Amino acid sequence: MAKETLSTTCVMDCPDACALDVTVEDGRVTAIEPGSPHPDTAGFICSKVSQFHKRLYHRDRLLHPMRRVGPKGEASFERISWDEAIAEITERFERIRSESGGEAILPFHYGGSNGMVSDELIDHLYFARLGASRLDKTICAVPATEVALAMYGKMPGVAFADYPEAECIVIWGANPRGSNIHLVPYLREAKRRGATIITIDPRRNLARAEHDLHLPVLPGQDLPLALAMIRWWEERGALDTEFLAANAVGVEPLLEQARAWSLDRAAEVSGVDATAIERTAATLAASDPAVVRCGWGIERNTNGGQAIAAVLSIPALLGKFGVRGAGYTLSNGGAVKFDPSTVVGELDWTTRRINMTQLGRALASDFDPPVRAIFVYNANPLATVPEHRAVRRGFERDDLFTVVHDQVLTDTARFADLLLPATTFLEGWDIRSGYGSYIVGGVRPVISPAGEARTNMQLFAELGRAAGFDEPAFHLDDQALLRKVAASIDMPGGPPDADALVAGRHSRPDFPGGRPVQFESVFPQTPDRRIHLTPAVLGERPFAWSAPGDDYPLSLISPASSKLVTSTMGEYNLDTLRVTMHPDDAASRDLAHGDRVRVFNQRGEVHCHLRISDRVRPGVSSMPKGAWSRSSINGATSVTLCPDDAQVVGDAACFNDARVEIALLGAGGS
Ligand code: SF4
Repeated sequence: MAKETLSTTCVMDCPDACALDVTVEDGRVTAIEPGSPHPDTAGFICSKVSQFHKRLYHRDRLLHPMRRVGPKGEASFERISWDEAIAEITERFERIRSESGGEAILPFHYGGSNGMVSDELIDHLYFARLGASRLDKTICAVPATEVALAMYGKMPGVAFADYPEAECIVIWGANPRGSNIHLVPYLREAKRRGATIITIDPRRNLARAEHDLHLPVLPGQDLPLALAMIRWWEERGALDTEFLAANAVGVEPLLEQARAWSLDRAAEVSGVDATAIERTAATLAASDPAVVRCGWGIERNTNGGQAIAAVLSIPALLGKFGVRGAGYTLSNGGAVKFDPSTVVGELDWTTRRINMTQLGRALASDFDPPVRAIFVYNANPLATVPEHRAVRRGFERDDLFTVVHDQVLTDTARFADLLLPATTFLEGWDIRSGYGSYIVGGVRPVISPAGEARTNMQLFAELGRAAGFDEPAFHLDDQALLRKVAASIDMPGGPPDADALVAGRHSRPDFPGGRPVQFESVFPQTPDRRIHLTPAVLGERPFAWSAPGDDYPLSLISPASSKLVTSTMGEYNLDTLRVTMHPDDAASRDLAHGDRVRVFNQRGEVHCHLRISDRVRPGVSSMPKGAWSRSSINGATSVTLCPDDAQVVGDAACFNDARVEIALLGAGGS
């Protein structure tokens, strides 16, 4: 029996970018384990990816191109050849372009792969050449990215390995146990050394022994909480005025807004005791070093971008920079820069933009001009886009030509007219740049593609050639593309070692001292090298607060879980959808743990099972994001209940503005 262990890197949409050792026996993956050496992997990986062989060999794995033969959504397909599929797409797209213009074609993609080669490269070149509509990828991370870029120019953040240096760690809107699991050992070490660990989140994500204080903020109310702390610091002379004068602009508009928020007013709005807010403010001010781990949970509501800005202002206002373990961490992706035009050339792509958060509106038959074709890859919009019923109505349109390139039969794949098999990250070449760990990892095929599965690059290169486009990038093979991308990467210490990447190993940005220290070895990358505390991206009313809706009594949050990476792995890792609520809320509704319940609002209802836990604060319910239709009793999931409103910053999604009621569907059952 031929057995070998090969190195590669995880491409999932997760901050950690783990190094992996994959054992292959007779061409089949038999084990996926942590690789080494890696700055953070530290001998373990998540159970999601250690079980990834379940996707590789799942009965729903797509092995051949297929054409729909039954009604939309029924997943009745017949096998066709790749040549037929490519010819049909080319012919249909050409007809749509000549009749309606290229903008009638919409590419739809997101973080199914965080590979630098497999997304926004050859695919973008192809759709730009078609003159297709452009997609605004607003469903996640846009407010955080826009704010961090405008305030700090995406300055590299505090490395997780430096968290044990901190005297105080505030984890705000992040769940390291669900995603970013390699932060957890560093938090334990920090606690062992005496750090004060404070978490701010509607859910208690860490065990009681793992933190000192938890502020159970109501969803969307992080902004008042942060502004009240800022006012408290100003009133007590705790602001580092010297640091601000030397390094920041836009201080006064922020302080002016903060002055409206007393501790008591913020407590009333945020649902957090004033004493807890004050204790957090006092601990942060008194601790050196102190670090804020700012998570993406903060941004998923109307006030999201404003709140991110207020939270990111904290280390600047207090001057908490300049030593190891001081500052903030959001995305560390800014340490590794890559300009796709160095590989595919400057794109001439100025067509209309369509907001992915409002896909349902874009797919409505009266959208002007109409979307006549959608090409879905690296994404599963029927499991991830809000206002689900409108999205589904769009995919049900008989006149919408739908192409889906995926690894397994997802909720969206069931609606495809043409369904194309995609490789997994264990079957193709790619590069993964971490946005938590400072690592650039090589992704290499450890097994042959299943069936006739193809990489995104192979697919879009072939489509480009079939359409008659003559750019050289359409003629590169995947490994050559990897090497071209590697050579174009700009990071401290120079581009990564392409040979190491091809071998599935990794390179690291070479910061002085090994890891960045904010305002010591790395600085704001804004044009004037200063921090912009009130950036223009906050709109005309920076730091303005919007009150939450009250049409239904409970907030619904839909955060990342330990089961899925967004919607990936839904075919094997989340069989039973559960909504979690606080014991007091359950008791007042006469509900018991395990009951089958209706979670409903004006948009629809989800039938699922009830979990009762005091980890979720009163007034809030929680359902995992990305769950597939198969996991719930009636086929509906959290996206059925979420609005498709766009917030000021980045026109981004507001999932956590959903409000619901929960009632008994039937007793017991799970
Ligand atoms: S999903 Fe995250 S924790 Fe899991 S293996 Fe991938 S990078 Fe590591």
